Amino acid sequence: MDEKTTLRVKQLLNSPKKIVIAGHKNPDGDAIGSCLGLYFFLKGEGHSPTVIMPNDFPDFLKWMPGVDEIIVFEKDVEKSNECISEADLIFTLDFNSLDRVGNLQEPLEQSNAKFIMIDHHQQPADYPDATYSDVSMSSTAQMVFHFIQALDKEERLTYEIAVNLYTGIMTDTGSFRFSSTTPTTHRVVAKLMEAGADSAEIYQNVYDTNSPDRMKLLGVALKNMHILPEYHTAYITLTQKELDQHNFKKGDTEGFVNYALSIKDIYFATIFIENKQENIVKMSFRSKGSFSVNDFARAHYNGGGHINAAGGKSSQSLNKTVKEFISILPRYKDELAHAF
Ligand code: 5GP
Ligand code: MN
Repeated sequence: MDEKTTLRVKQLLNSPKKIVIAGHKNPDGDAIGSCLGLYFFLKGEGHSPTVIMPNDFPDFLKWMPGVDEIIVFEKDVEKSNECISEADLIFTLDFNSLDRVGNLQEPLEQSNAKFIMIDHHQQPADYPDATYSDVSMSSTAQMVFHFIQALDKEERLTYEIAVNLYTGIMTDTGSFRFSSTTPTTHRVVAKLMEAGADSAEIYQNVYDTNSPDRMKLLGVALKNMHILPEYHTAYITLTQKELDQHNFKKGDTEGFVNYALSIKDIYFATIFIENKQENIVKMSFRSKGSFSVNDFARAHYNGGGHINAAGGKSSQSLNKTVKEFISILPRYKDELAHAF
């Protein structure tokens, strides 16, 4: 975090404040981990923070310290609105544009609080009073650690902060294997382990809790996988019916798209997931090398994210969405051929 932002943040936190910490819609491990890590830090500093998520999050994150304190906007609109209207300060974590929070957007936009952004996605919007944005960071959770460091408060690291930040970093780096994992990431992780984060236990809590239904749904996803060698592309589809047949629960499809990307000579992978309730097809894009799925998602699917991991959506049928996707690929043929 640069000096100017650090000074501004210190000024905003110089007396006890009512604070809301908000994550993005469909919160993942980094959203929950960074928000709860910051929550415990700010609480320890004498502030009154509340974490608000736009909607519910997967069961495999529900063991994290502090999850019971999270207010889910969709489940508790009144309490959320009350906290937001009373807040002096609002932190927005792991997203950088207010259209990423679903129905939480309106109350946030109406608030008179000062906004602080901590985020690692491409192209941050300019709503905050203080912006800590760094697209080179592995995760927002790592940035919360650097945020605490910048305030000269590293010695205030607790077990709760460490476990939450570790979980955020682990999940956003694919367990420390993505290219965003740097020597600094590992140094931060070492400090989190020294503060009590148990790597084996956290890994098991997150990843070794598969249901038989989820494993069978993965089988369906892999059967539905199509390879387009001329575009170094693979894609997976899942219909609402297939999800229903496997008692789909939030988070069950997390990571499926990576199997498509793991194929030799595949540099671009997409999963299309039908969502009849919202009448959309949700897409996850992953790439290897220089092919920017952030640009691709922004150009065609009202989405965004990082260079190698992004998301978007379509309001067309699943079939039409896939057809359109295939029709777009020739435009990227050269780029894909030289991506890796
Ligand atoms: P996932 O595919 O795992 O849902 O998301 C991959 C990355 O893209 C995450 O960093 C996520 O925050 C971002 N992302 C996912 N969906 C969207 C979207 O609809 N819009 C934008 N701007 N980012 C998204
Ligand atoms: Mn993240």
